[in-house]
Amino acid sequence: MKNRMVLLILLFLASVALHSCDSSDRGNGQQAKVEEAEPAVAAPDFNADSAYHFVAEQVAFGPRVPNTGPHRATGDWIISKLREYGADVKVQNFQMEAYDGTTLNLRNIIASYNPDVAKRVMVAAHWDTRHVADRDDQNQDKPIDGANDGASGVGVLLEIARTIHEAQEKPGVGVDLVFFDGEDYGQPDDSDLPYKEDSWALGAQYWSKNKHKPNYRAQYGILLDMVGAENAKFAREGISMQYAKRVVDKIWKAGNRIGYSDYFRYVKAPAITDDHYYVNEIAKIPMVDIIEYNMSGNGDYFGPYHHRHTDNMDIISKNTLKAVGQTVLHVLYNE
Ligand SMILES: [Zn+2]
Repeated sequence: MKNRMVLLILLFLASVALHSCDSSDRGNGQQAKVEEAEPAVAAPDFNADSAYHFVAEQVAFGPRVPNTGPHRATGDWIISKLREYGADVKVQNFQMEAYDGTTLNLRNIIASYNPDVAKRVMVAAHWDTRHVADRDDQNQDKPIDGANDGASGVGVLLEIARTIHEAQEKPGVGVDLVFFDGEDYGQPDDSDLPYKEDSWALGAQYWSKNKHKPNYRAQYGILLDMVGAENAKFAREGISMQYAKRVVDKIWKAGNRIGYSDYFRYVKAPAITDDHYYVNEIAKIPMVDIIEYNMSGNGDYFGPYHHRHTDNMDIISKNTLKAVGQTVLHVLYNE
């Protein structure tokens, strides 16, 4: 009896083991195939002129450095635009201490579409700009315009908001546009102050610990940072690949499928600490960073304008804003 019983149990265990390895493989494989076959939903048109205009308006306010008038005015303007575009807007007011001891008065702004839909995707960008041009060799203590590093991501988010608002057809998922503050007030490399851990991405750290809605969940997140420079290239960044490879694949496939293979390159890029790092680590929401990568490999990870006074409207391209904005809309409408 026993022997027979043992034999039966062994047979059962063997079949369970066989089934489990089989289902994960089969699941993945089949799912991928299904995605291939399904016709894509055509997303509404992303208007690059309008996105460009939003970038220029922010720069016209002046550098958006926390605790300054231009920063306050720009935040108010972003909130008013989002309300104009019919979003359900929430604002988080909070204070964080910077590496130099300054108390920063910050605001994260969250705009939601289809607020009652459970399946949600978040798309984020930082709206503040850097208080110093620490990578420039002139006027290092002066703030930068942040046309690309700050305004470009916000410009794309505002145009996505306007497009969803105007479109007959809304995306099937819930969409949360998150404007993080205090991303770029981090400790300069050559600072002679004591080293402060986690001095960047303060708004993302705060939001990840204090969501705008209790128990907020999203399927995944897409971060946009420096997405407006002429001829920008976007590679598959390390933290994004580590925490959210499936989402990277989804975005890169969409971008290549709708004609932006010049921008979305199947190239790996080293990991960087940006807002998405804390959303992955603390909020446990898989988040990808679409951020310009300098493919020439001459030492600069980002473009040659990074944290310099050349980060102004001269480098902003409607084509790049279009490639990123249309790709993100495509992903949202096909989720
Ligand atoms: Zn920056």
